[in-house]
Amino acid sequence: MNYDVIIVGAGPGGIFASYELVKLNPKLKIAVFEAGNPLEKRHCPIDGKQIKRCINCPSCSIMSGFGGAGAFSDGKYNITNDFGGTLHEYIGKQQALDLMHYVDDINMQFGGQGAKLYSTAGMQFKKICIQNKLNLLDAQVRHLGTDINYIVLQNLFNFLKDKVDFYFNTQVLDIVKENNDYGIVTKDKSFNCKYVVVSVGRSGSKWMEEICKKLNINTKSNRVDIGVRVELPATIFSHITDELYESKIVYRTEKFEDDVRTFCMNPNGIVVNENTNGIITVNGHSYEDPKLKTENTNFALLVSKHFSEPFKDSNGYGESIARLSNMLGGGVILQRFGDLIRGRRSTEKRIQECTTIPTLTATPGDLSLVLPKRILDGIIEMIYALDKVAPGTANDDTLLYGVEVKFYNMEVDIDNNLETKLKGLFVIGDGSGVTHSLSHASASGVYVARQIANKVS
Ligand SMILES: Cc1cc2nc3c(=O)[nH]c(=O)nc-3n(C[C@H](O)[C@H](O)[C@H](O)COP(=O)(O)OP(=O)(O)OC[C@H]3O[C@@H](n4cnc5c(N)ncnc54)[C@H](O)[C@@H]3O)c2cc1C
Repeated sequence: MNYDVIIVGAGPGGIFASYELVKLNPKLKIAVFEAGNPLEKRHCPIDGKQIKRCINCPSCSIMSGFGGAGAFSDGKYNITNDFGGTLHEYIGKQQALDLMHYVDDINMQFGGQGAKLYSTAGMQFKKICIQNKLNLLDAQVRHLGTDINYIVLQNLFNFLKDKVDFYFNTQVLDIVKENNDYGIVTKDKSFNCKYVVVSVGRSGSKWMEEICKKLNINTKSNRVDIGVRVELPATIFSHITDELYESKIVYRTEKFEDDVRTFCMNPNGIVVNENTNGIITVNGHSYEDPKLKTENTNFALLVSKHFSEPFKDSNGYGESIARLSNMLGGGVILQRFGDLIRGRRSTEKRIQECTTIPTLTATPGDLSLVLPKRILDGIIEMIYALDKVAPGTANDDTLLYGVEVKFYNMEVDIDNNLETKLKGLFVIGDGSGVTHSLSHASASGVYVARQIANKVS
């Protein structure tokens, strides 16, 4: 046996699984296989000058490598069962919250001390939202910021590196069930182990699907969130972001009764490209360092699409829409809200004249040629609804980048231990379809580590 435990993927799920295993049983032989680079070698080549757009690197540094998709994220750890995943449905609400607090404590010990913890509790803004048909979801939010998040990851790696074997730039190609153990197949070599923890996140979603098919593990997929990233002067949302940092606000549209929600709010942040399986979409983050802050706030407005039988490929649907924007704009499309509602495309000239200065170089265009009417109508309705609680949201110069797609991994059939029907094979984090956030993915890693440590002892 090469290892007791092999973890596939060094995102938050994999990192916290290895951390907890090391802590609970330092004698365990543990390896982590990661398709991407070590943290210090992760660099996105887009510099805004020579390289302005995504050049489809073989391994996307934003999504892959030590720290996973979380490495250059805004480091917002939302401690809540209201969003960010459905871990509580498997392990119970209290346990899920306890684990998220546990993860928060570790982040504080490893360099995050001093980062502010925001809370919706007792907020007057909640009442104002309800009065305007908006629902503010309850949460505590620890905002590390991209820079502190990076330091926490560095410190976690330094703690783990002598206790765990890390294999970087080593994609796991296959998992083979042998008699009482598992074979982990990489390009050059195969390894075996008793327990496998698969934590491959969104970037590993296609691979995960293939593995489940091959191992006869059931999956289901029926959801994708599609929308735009909104960018506006930070002052418009400052009364909300100063108090809460990130607010998750849900609005039910009058026309279609669809839920539109704000997602990933980044006060004084920047808008960035995201490359998922070669498709360029948009995302955002912000820095804690005052020198790196911008004048703008950005957040996504997303509409959830749930599909019913016979359609199964919800991510394929989202990808097709993103591809359309890539086809028309060569990447992400940028449009002023004023142009969108006047039914005209944005042009370089109109963007140059815009009072909101974009933080991402994107192609001025027309989002109505990309987004389905139902989704676009929902977004426009939501912008007007937000304008009532944050006047100025519906200004002509509010910028919309499209498309933002939140792909949901298909849900892998796992039990309450997050274990598949194949004993010893666990699936955690965003790759399981159960979590969609840093805190839930990390908590699922701790949870599974504890299951394995119990089995071993
Ligand atoms: C720009 C951006 C900003 C974000 N901001 C936030 C935020 O502020 N708050 C929040 O809660 N969430 C945020 N998210 C989402 C968050 O990053 C994810 O929910 C979280 O990282 C999921 O953790 P994970 O460990 O499940 O997967 P990931 O972080 O995706 O890690 C999976 C790892 O597995 C590796 N991998 C995949 N397939 C294989 C394979 N076959 N073999 C070996 N390795 C493999 C990948 O390279 C990757 O490093 C953000 C995401 C992005 C992209």
